[in-house]
Amino acid sequence: MAQESMRCGSCFFELPTGAGHLPEDRPADLGVEAFYVGRIHPVHTVKNAFRLMQQSAERGCVTCEVLLTFMSRHTSTQNQIMWQGWASDAVTAFHSPPPLSAESGSPIPKEEDAERPPNVVFDFFCMATATDDPVPAFQQQRTRSLHPFLNIASHPSGDTGSDLAMARLQRWFSDCIASHAQCAKDQTPQLPARVLWLASPDTVRVIENCPHQEPYVCLSHRWSAPTVKISLRSANYARYQSGIATCELPRLFRDVIRLCLSPLGIRYLWIDSLCILQDSLVDWETIAATMGSIYENAFVTISADDNTDSDQPLFGRLPPAADAAEIPVPATASHPAGDAEKVFIRRQFPHPAGIPMHSPGTTAHGDVPLQRRGWVYQERALSRRIIHVTQAELSWECVETTRCECRLNEGHWNATRLRVPRNIFATSWERMVEEYSILELTFERDKLQALAGLARRVAARDRRRYAAGLWWEQLDAGFLWRRLKHAAARPRPKVLVAPTWSWASIDGPVWLTHGDRAKDVVFVEWAVKVAGVDPFGSLDKDSCLTVSGYVVEGVIHYGLSWEELVDKRSRVTTNPLELWDSLARTELKRKNFMGVEIHGQLYSWLPDYAVDSPGPWMVMSGSVVRCLLCCDGGVAGMLLRSRGEKTTGYERIGVLDNDPFIRVPVEDLLQQASRESLVIY
Ligand SMILES: [Zn+2]
Ligand SMILES: [Zn+2]
Ligand SMILES: [Zn+2]
Repeated sequence: MAQESMRCGSCFFELPTGAGHLPEDRPADLGVEAFYVGRIHPVHTVKNAFRLMQQSAERGCVTCEVLLTFMSRHTSTQNQIMWQGWASDAVTAFHSPPPLSAESGSPIPKEEDAERPPNVVFDFFCMATATDDPVPAFQQQRTRSLHPFLNIASHPSGDTGSDLAMARLQRWFSDCIASHAQCAKDQTPQLPARVLWLASPDTVRVIENCPHQEPYVCLSHRWSAPTVKISLRSANYARYQSGIATCELPRLFRDVIRLCLSPLGIRYLWIDSLCILQDSLVDWETIAATMGSIYENAFVTISADDNTDSDQPLFGRLPPAADAAEIPVPATASHPAGDAEKVFIRRQFPHPAGIPMHSPGTTAHGDVPLQRRGWVYQERALSRRIIHVTQAELSWECVETTRCECRLNEGHWNATRLRVPRNIFATSWERMVEEYSILELTFERDKLQALAGLARRVAARDRRRYAAGLWWEQLDAGFLWRRLKHAAARPRPKVLVAPTWSWASIDGPVWLTHGDRAKDVVFVEWAVKVAGVDPFGSLDKDSCLTVSGYVVEGVIHYGLSWEELVDKRSRVTTNPLELWDSLARTELKRKNFMGVEIHGQLYSWLPDYAVDSPGPWMVMSGSVVRCLLCCDGGVAGMLLRSRGEKTTGYERIGVLDNDPFIRVPVEDLLQQASRESLVIY
């Protein structure tokens, strides 16, 4: 009787005939689904694969042994390992995620575990037959039959400034120009009011109001000391207009100029530090207000993803650790010797794709420093074509597609990883704010300016009214923003660029897409005054919002006084179930818990910022607050404190949290509340 060919239940390669069997093994002809039954969709995972893989190596699976050896070089073997294959069948990773919390079973938030080893992702792939052409269907099929999760990829050039890399770039470029209708749409290549003219490889000039319609390049980069030193100021303005020797510029800029001239063949370049007068607030505000359209109209944006200092070169060489290892695939009945394709594993390169918003354990993008910067968010979202340069490889993003040298992200960013939309209207404003709020700004005062280009674009499309990061027409949703629970509360910024009813008044990640609507609140009017020249920028401190709604009084507690209060109560919830009450009690006494007492009942509230940090924004435990009831969703109400005896109006300090264990009986509270008009600053 012919022996049935089997697939290893750990590495998913077909086992050589004669190998011992384990319960996880499956008949080879069952197909991919055999490994997925009951698993998470669309990310298929096999947990505890590490232990299984060790057993498998011991029974003689050579592939398992090689995989284990390679992974042990890059990650602690204490980690879990899981296979992760995306349903789009494109992205496969062998993944060792952070340890899970013993209590909740979910990944431990980064802030609670600074020592935690980073999440390591391995790419597992088969070599593409042709270097740059799309992968043919027959190759994809063959690969599938070899292994269910296998990708098709390439080795990158190893040097992003090499002729090979430049030839690839040129090819991506010409494909886009020749066949992408959406990338060519609506382009008015009017030069920015001030721009660099690359007069020759040795000289650049700052020129103004050039009437030509010419393609230009934008640079997306991170500022550093050399950037500041060479920046445009009133004192060097005249000299820069007559010409700067390229050799005076930082290395990054010199490389960018080289890339513009060849292979791109473009002679106009926009760099913020050289095109905005850095010692003129008026100039900065005026140009900052047009920044969105400067990036939007650029022919291409060069994104210096790995540069933390502009004295560093733009181009990089692949570090040796990025070397891929070949996996010896045993000859089997379905893939006889000589027919087998070469299979590799390598540690995944950082790709400038996506932001780890709702997965605190993910650090896959932590290695792309530029994409953590607040200003870059709109630069990237608005640019129609982007050349990303990382140390490992070149990659390409345009409205229609994505390419990269290693080929793992070809055309798939949109579907699986990239949250910043190539078509900015494909993402809701609320989502954009969430993504943006994670990013870092050198100056908190730029919080609204760095998003103004996107806001202006959305306003032009929807004809809605905007202030401080929110839309009047959608205030029932936007008003209910809350701080992201996982992130620690930070002190309020010293200088507020927005009123306290805006998410822009706090520092750190916010959550807006929870779906709640403030159905019990009427938005009467907002009296907003812009602080500078840009209507999409910072607001004056007198800007206020008038609402009318049902208000109850409460007392907030935290620290020792809260713990004593919880202990004193025989019952903490209105729910008579004993179990429920004890769960609520445990929940209410979590570390750093913030409680509020309303009509003798205890509830949970989520402060917008670190209310216990000393200063003008401190709110003492025991303070009386007003609670504006909003809806019976997760954000039940808004906690407001009076601005003081000498003045009128309120400030928002946090939200009344409808915790699953400590339900807020909103309907009952509404019965006892009085309708009031409140002015919030
Ligand atoms: Zn195996
Ligand atoms: Zn394109
Ligand atoms: Zn890549």
